[in-house]
Amino acid sequence: MHTWQIGDVKITKIVELESVGGSRFILPDATPEAVLKHDWLSPHFINDEGKLIMSVHALIVETPTKTIIVDTCLGNDKKRNIPAWNNLQLPFLEDLEAAGFKREDIDIVLCTHLHVDHVGWNTMLVDGAWVPTFPKARYIMAKSEFEYWTEEAEGEEYATIMADSVRPVFEAGLVDLVPITHQICEEVVLEPTPGHTPGHVSVHIQSKEQHAVITGDSIHHPCQIAETTWSSSADYDSAQATQTRQDFLSLYADKETLIIGTHFATPTAGHVKQVGTGYELSVEGGSEETLA
Ligand SMILES: [Zn+2]
Repeated sequence: MHTWQIGDVKITKIVELESVGGSRFILPDATPEAVLKHDWLSPHFINDEGKLIMSVHALIVETPTKTIIVDTCLGNDKKRNIPAWNNLQLPFLEDLEAAGFKREDIDIVLCTHLHVDHVGWNTMLVDGAWVPTFPKARYIMAKSEFEYWTEEAEGEEYATIMADSVRPVFEAGLVDLVPITHQICEEVVLEPTPGHTPGHVSVHIQSKEQHAVITGDSIHHPCQIAETTWSSSADYDSAQATQTRQDFLSLYADKETLIIGTHFATPTAGHVKQVGTGYELSVEGGSEETLA
């Protein structure tokens, strides 16, 4: 288990699955030759052959008043087109409980956006029906994001994902549709990072002069820190996504802010450094991080 402490806020990573390779469909520019040029990506984020290492995980943000789960991974029992994501039977909820969190403990479910790997555990299958996994939580989604996918879902393949992972919590009355600058509690505020999807948000945490930002998919893989123009094939607007990524990296370069990646493999977090005209993610020291 991986945790970080930001002032009074504790952040815990719960891994659903990690993968090596097979992600070129997400980042077509990230060929082995191209990523191997960036030494710092090895060994954490690429392997010796230049294959991308990626992670699907949730981040539990515990403030003095709220327990927040940021992104809910892929979920079990869901019928999906990508074979590695189809009908998963993984011990995510058991791992969550082993880390000290029962489903009922979660106050807020926060989806950075409504893609398939960020909404899965919003619901779980009980007696053939999709029910909210976190029954006592408010589910926070950007209004613009929800409206976009509600329209997209009409007659599209995304209908399945909305039907099994978003509509059930909405219909249970658990969803709060919020602006993309929404303040969740004293320590946690949404930071708009559009482009990957229309209403995509990152999550800014601050406590006692310490800061962290959870990227969401504005940076899918650390290779996009080195190569800021590399787009994800899943980007809704790749030009806007590139601009958002460059603005984000320029804002946080050489600052104390800990950058926590939503798909970054272990160690998952680091500090952005400007190197020449580009950027790197430094994962050595600097964060109050513990491995339990
Ligand atoms: Zn994702």
